[in-house]
Amino acid sequence: MNEILKPAAGDDIVTCDACPVLCRIRTGRTGACDRYGNVAGKLTRLDPFVITQKIAAKDGAVVPFAGKDWDGKIVPDAPLFVTGVGAGTTYPDYKPAPFIVSSNHQGVDMVTVVTEGIFSYCGVKVKIDTDRYVGPETAAVRVGGEQVGHVTTAEYGSQMLSVGGVRHLTGGSKKEGVVTCETLLKLCSGEAVEMRVDEGATLTVQAGKAPVINGTQEERMRVGCGSATIGIFAKQWFGHVDEVIVVDDHITGVLTEHQAGRFLDMPLAGIRVRGRKSTPGRYFQVAEPGTGWGGTNVQDPLEIIEKIDIKHAKPGLRLLMVSTTGEHSAYFVLDAQLKPQKAAMPAHLNMTVERIGENCEPALTTVLFMAGAGGSLRAGVTENPVRLTRSVKDALTRVTSGGAPVYVWPGGGITFMVDVTTMPAKSFGHVPTPAIVAPIEFTMRREDYAALGGHLDSIRRIEDVAKADRLQVQQWHDHGPWPGAPLPKDAA
Ligand code: SF4
Repeated sequence: MNEILKPAAGDDIVTCDACPVLCRIRTGRTGACDRYGNVAGKLTRLDPFVITQKIAAKDGAVVPFAGKDWDGKIVPDAPLFVTGVGAGTTYPDYKPAPFIVSSNHQGVDMVTVVTEGIFSYCGVKVKIDTDRYVGPETAAVRVGGEQVGHVTTAEYGSQMLSVGGVRHLTGGSKKEGVVTCETLLKLCSGEAVEMRVDEGATLTVQAGKAPVINGTQEERMRVGCGSATIGIFAKQWFGHVDEVIVVDDHITGVLTEHQAGRFLDMPLAGIRVRGRKSTPGRYFQVAEPGTGWGGTNVQDPLEIIEKIDIKHAKPGLRLLMVSTTGEHSAYFVLDAQLKPQKAAMPAHLNMTVERIGENCEPALTTVLFMAGAGGSLRAGVTENPVRLTRSVKDALTRVTSGGAPVYVWPGGGITFMVDVTTMPAKSFGHVPTPAIVAPIEFTMRREDYAALGGHLDSIRRIEDVAKADRLQVQQWHDHGPWPGAPLPKDAA
């Protein structure tokens, strides 16, 4: 139970109508989601309502307030933006949104419509910067044994998970829905979540932090695929080595066959690797995916050498084998029988291996929340919801989430994605339907709000809203354009 509630005299029950659960809440208690409570017989949204403020902004940059520590109170004359965090919901949505706020930005009258959306259609896309194998594409991702998502298409240097979505929230067992909802809430709130991939790895992922795979914290994402690594470093290897093989789960590169080696007039070394040749010096499927060299299952790099061609190879030939992060490397010299013999790595080659590592960016986990605001939520903004959708598509209305910039997908509806690390702390909640609660704001010029059939009678001035109870003022974090500004085409 939320600490701030104190039992009051009497035992009045209030019914919360902020979501379909319709909790009946006794005095001093909270509803099932802990977001609403019965405070002395009155239904009350309990968490702080977050307003963000551009403190002492000069030329668009945020500078310390008058050289002193900011005391957390509203600073007169600094721009304010009302976020949806803690704003509450209106259910069913035919009622106007909880806050419809007017403000003025550089002489333009603006309106921001603010609510906490309840999203059954939502999930997160998790980007894990590693070439380490996490599991087969489409494999189930589980938390506490329940499937909460799946491995999806890998991206350049990163493994990708899709977690949540309406099928796991509502289409499976009750437990699957509950665990999925809890997982989403933790990921969106920046907490660590431990997951297991069927036929794959155990993962600990946390937004903005390095992933942990099979108990080992990842340090680097790869510099590029094997072919790209050849392209980047070919000139630095030229003259110091006769062949370089960059081992990679996706594209293994072979320097003397590769276009880069051809341009440098390097003679073919005659070392053939396994796998399917794609184009010169670029090989697919040299090994199975795994946790060895370059995201393959290779522990000894010589395993991927299929044959050494006596037509080109010579005793004394110098061979460097390296992974795409520089984490694995080995140097060989061919003996009289053309067998690679391990040798001490020359200093120059060692420097190039270290430089591969230096060029790898730190491995991070990124969590993008994705949800559809194209449903009934729009009715809290306008009597004619399709006009809101059109206004967003026509770039007349800016969509933000907790003031953070979002990407709105083209096509139907208002399906958006937002980086959870750019949002205020505690932006997310849940209801037991189950669904995720997230802030959303629609900002537009007042005349455009009138044109889309907005609830004009419900507009309140920002100065009045700024006097609301349970207000929390947070300094604008400057992650994107000021959310209260007119869209660029209007400002032009
Ligand atoms: S779950 Fe929360 S929002 Fe839904 S009715 Fe209960 S208290 Fe209200």
